[in-house]
Amino acid sequence: MYANVQLFINGSWRDSLSGKTIPVVNPATEEVIGTVAHAEIPDLDLALAAAASGFETWRRTSAFARSKLMRKAADLLRERAEQIALKMTLEQGKPLAEARMETLAAADTIDWFAEEARRAYGRVVPARAEGVYQLVIKEPVGPAAAFTPWNFPINQVVRKLSAALAAGCSIIVKAPEETPASPAELIRAFIDAGVPGDVISLVYGVPAQISEYLIPHPVIRKISFTGSTPVGKQLAALAGLHMKRVTMELGGHAPAIVFDDADLDVAAKMLAGAKFRNAGQVCVSPTRFLVQEGVYDDFVNKFTTFAKAIKVGDGTAEGTTMGPLANERRIPALEGLIQDAVQHGAELVTGGNRIGNKGYFFEPTVLANVPTTARAMNEEPFGPLALIVPFRDFDDAVAEANRLPFGLASYAVTRSAKTATALAQSIESGMLTINHLGLALPEVPFGGIKDSGYGSEGGLEAIEAYLNTKFVSQGSL
Ligand code: NAD
Repeated sequence: MYANVQLFINGSWRDSLSGKTIPVVNPATEEVIGTVAHAEIPDLDLALAAAASGFETWRRTSAFARSKLMRKAADLLRERAEQIALKMTLEQGKPLAEARMETLAAADTIDWFAEEARRAYGRVVPARAEGVYQLVIKEPVGPAAAFTPWNFPINQVVRKLSAALAAGCSIIVKAPEETPASPAELIRAFIDAGVPGDVISLVYGVPAQISEYLIPHPVIRKISFTGSTPVGKQLAALAGLHMKRVTMELGGHAPAIVFDDADLDVAAKMLAGAKFRNAGQVCVSPTRFLVQEGVYDDFVNKFTTFAKAIKVGDGTAEGTTMGPLANERRIPALEGLIQDAVQHGAELVTGGNRIGNKGYFFEPTVLANVPTTARAMNEEPFGPLALIVPFRDFDDAVAEANRLPFGLASYAVTRSAKTATALAQSIESGMLTINHLGLALPEVPFGGIKDSGYGSEGGLEAIEAYLNTKFVSQGSL
């Protein structure tokens, strides 16, 4: 089922020139299930040459033709969703239903960007003199390099890949070594659909070595990275040194604010579902649950009931609602945050421990009354850890929500239109969803502010990130 994963460079699936590979581990069993090819500089040089020639082809391919090929890729992805989802679950751990949903959502993302490819319009600006046309023209920025993480192996790639292809850019994808097979299947769908083989390259290896080589390289004109804030800052600095366009989708520490006029059953169910999806390894995961004093105890009880009902297990097993953590290093990271919070006076309501000693399973964990001095209230837990704290009034809640340097996603539940409007004006984050879960659709912006990065991976802004604006003023003789 799980074949070894190769690189895709200049139209062929191949091993690295050195023959080196990296083992791939199933996080539910800790078994090595395959290998992924490990690219080094000579492989990257081939990928760069392909990206340069692919760009010349693709930029000259009409938007209409690009759009058709992309839609075909989306259809192939849908046809193959079942076997791709299984690969994703084996390498990443998430329940099969979540893997299937991610794959099918990726097909929708491709379709949306394929449509927008045909509408990357420029404009005509009325001129001051007669006989002059002032044209604003949109052109693809050039070959892009995309770096994507292991939490959503397909979703993280498809947003960058679809926007780049829609704009007319070629792209080198550095996909995650821990979860390589499902993103490879995404690339395969594009290639099988007829996208020229030099337009997309796929590599894996040592992330720092690849980024340090690709970002400054003159062929590459655009960088897109999803991952942690410290790494993002390093890569943005390197890109800045070489004047490259950058999109950075980095860490978050999302506040979820529950006001005392909320329907607590709905709030607890909705927010617990969002918290424990993908075992909390989600950049927009709600993390700091700020609950108004009058309903605080009730909310903690209801939320904890949902946390306890989660069925943790192998993602391929029937009935599993939360899989293992995707890699071993998240276990000590979470244990450390929980221990530290309890030492600072937090109350451990449920969970807190690794489950068993085979597979990286961790209990859905709820900590209540967590002081802001605890590390968990300041560092992204990136795991199944909910931190619940009370607040007095609106200003209190907003002050806590905006306290951290992060500004990715925020959530709120209230029946008051006045409170909702005031929140929209006060919350410092790139995204805010009130009374429902409404983030991450292809047609709406997706991105952060402050230390959560800049740029967008959804909506028209996502294509704009792969386009240059050229001004042409044409007079008549
Ligand atoms: P990490 O910082 O080592 O790596 C995060 C991602 O960045 C990985 O995909 C990794 O391959 C890549 N990376 C690391 N160094 C790189 C470099 N020099 N050049 C290019 N890519 C590089 O952390 P991790 O242990 O894999 O994950 C833990 C933390 O990363 C989490 O706590 C979370 O904050 C963050 N993270 C965020 C997202 C997201 O969706 N925003 C996804 C995964 C991880």
